[in-house]
Order: sequence, then structure tokens, then C-alpha cells
Amino acid sequence: MNELQQLYQETILDHNKNPRNFGVLNDCSHHADGKNPLCGDQINISLLLDNGNINNIMFDGSGCAISKASASIMTTLVKNHSIDEAKELFDKFHSVVTSKIDTEINLDELGKLAVFAGVRDYPARVKCASLAWHTLMNAINNKAEIAITE
Ligand code: ZN
Repeated sequence: MNELQQLYQETILDHNKNPRNFGVLNDCSHHADGKNPLCGDQINISLLLDNGNINNIMFDGSGCAISKASASIMTTLVKNHSIDEAKELFDKFHSVVTSKIDTEINLDELGKLAVFAGVRDYPARVKCASLAWHTLMNAINNKAEIAITE
């Protein structure tokens, strides 16, 4: 197992077992639901946005280990960051999970996002990993429709 696969396994296990920011935010300003019908993953994201900043974020729902861990990692990355930074992270995330499997991953440059490069080994799981991120974007954009990963 290489360094990236090990990081992937450990991080997904950890966040699946102990999800961070799990629950519903009572005083949220924005929220959105997401569904991945291929796997049966469901997620709800609630946000407290203030002055272009994500002051608080929580997620709730049920699904496979990857969808849950991805949501948990995403919340830790965007909490207390600006909406612009969250959008940049989303773009980076997207380019990592959709990059070719032999594209080299710079662990230092990507930081915690590097873990998602591990998803490339499991193409059927890309939608599971993406669900929370798409739902986050819908919540930020205040879209009422449900984010569906298809
Ligand atoms: Zn899934």
C-alpha cells in the first residue's frame, strides 16, 4: 500500500467512525439536501453564513462510509473560512477526484484534500465523495432543489 492509499484508508475510517460537525444547526441561515441515488447516500447540510464567511457548518444524514467521511472532512476544511475559499476548495476537490489515476498528487500542496485522490482507485465512489461538496455549493447558493449527483 502506498502513502496515498494508506492516508485514504486511515482518514476515511477515522471520519466515518467519528464524524466531525455531525448534526443539525438550529440557527442556520442556509441549508440544502443532497442525494446520491446510485448508492443511497443522503445528506443535509446546514450553514451559518455571515458577511461572506462560513461561521458554522453541520451535516446530517445516512450513507456509506465514503459519503459520510467526505462530508465530515469537508466541514472541517470550510468551517471558519470564507465562501470564496470554500469555492476554491470545491474546484480543487473536483479536479483531484476527476484526475487521471496516474496524475501525480502533491501531498504538501493539496494538504487534507490529498486524501480524496484515493477515491480515484474506486470510480464508483466518486459520486459518494462528491455529494457533500455539491450539497455545500447548493446551500451556499441558496438553491432550493435537491442536489443529485447525476
Ligand atoms: Zn455512497
